[in-house]
Amino acid sequence: MSELKSDVLLSVQNLQVWFALRRFGFGIAGYVHAVDGVSFQLHEGEAVAIVGESGSGKSTLMRAILGLHRPRAGHIIFEGRDIPRLKPADLRWYRTRVGYVQQDPYGALPPFMTVRQILEEPLIIAHTGNSHQRIERVRRALEEVKLTPIEDFLNKFPHQLSGGQQQRVVIARATILNPRLLIADEPVSMLDASVRVELLFLLRELQRNHRLSILYITHDLSTVRYFSERIFVMYAGKIVEKAPADELIQNPRHPYTWALLAAIPEPDPRNARRFREVPSGEPPSLVTPPPGCRFHPRCPKAIRGLCEVQEPPELRVGPDHEVACWLYQ
Ligand code: SF4
Repeated sequence: MSELKSDVLLSVQNLQVWFALRRFGFGIAGYVHAVDGVSFQLHEGEAVAIVGESGSGKSTLMRAILGLHRPRAGHIIFEGRDIPRLKPADLRWYRTRVGYVQQDPYGALPPFMTVRQILEEPLIIAHTGNSHQRIERVRRALEEVKLTPIEDFLNKFPHQLSGGQQQRVVIARATILNPRLLIADEPVSMLDASVRVELLFLLRELQRNHRLSILYITHDLSTVRYFSERIFVMYAGKIVEKAPADELIQNPRHPYTWALLAAIPEPDPRNARRFREVPSGEPPSLVTPPPGCRFHPRCPKAIRGLCEVQEPPELRVGPDHEVACWLYQ
């Protein structure tokens, strides 16, 4: 295993998460290759967006990092410890170091608990402070997510809050134990457009104030440029491009990234013309993924005799910019 740089918080190394397809009475019929050889590093205090269509494997990757899926192979090293190989007692430690914000805030909040009870619960489970100290921490958490005046929210139930307010409670709960890593899975996709930007700015503020690292999972490339330092593009279980956010938007290299960018409504017609050859079609089956480059059946630039046969390696095309595509060999 390679030695980690001192500011690396999370190192995912050649991760594979496959799911068995069982046929009743006939054993295993095949495997869904949901995540297939993913590697990356996340630094302390860094926000990274993982972007891809539904079915690209990004949510499975996130769930594996949370310890909810057992990988078939590879490593998830967090603060020097390999998470899939932790004992149950150590998993409890990990759960205090990693917060999770899910897509549907209403589904994430227990309906019969007040905001105060919801936020106090993780502190009680982690044996943090006495009752007075816990309520002080709950108040600070509400202030941090800007649910003020605090007294207006402490005794409310989730159904008495708007969707944006519910998601702020979810964020407060996810950060109340001062985690080092926050995993946010499409955190604004179910909210009105008017509150999306506010919530992304709130996450950004928490990241800066607490030197929090964030993995932001989304299908929407339009929101990530202003939110993340780097963007990783996922397709059919693999990361196909990694770059600093501005570089990826200004100078995308992978044909699939072109397709994602071309799908963003573009007010400037000069930019709309940037992508002349936009790939079409659907993502492949992850049970029988195409050989070679998994994007080759949709790729307008596919090199016959190469792309459908050999998987492209990750190639460096600029400072901190890597792409898995034979075009740049
Ligand atoms: Fe297209 Fe070939 Fe590049 Fe894959 S490796 S994206 S098929 S050009």
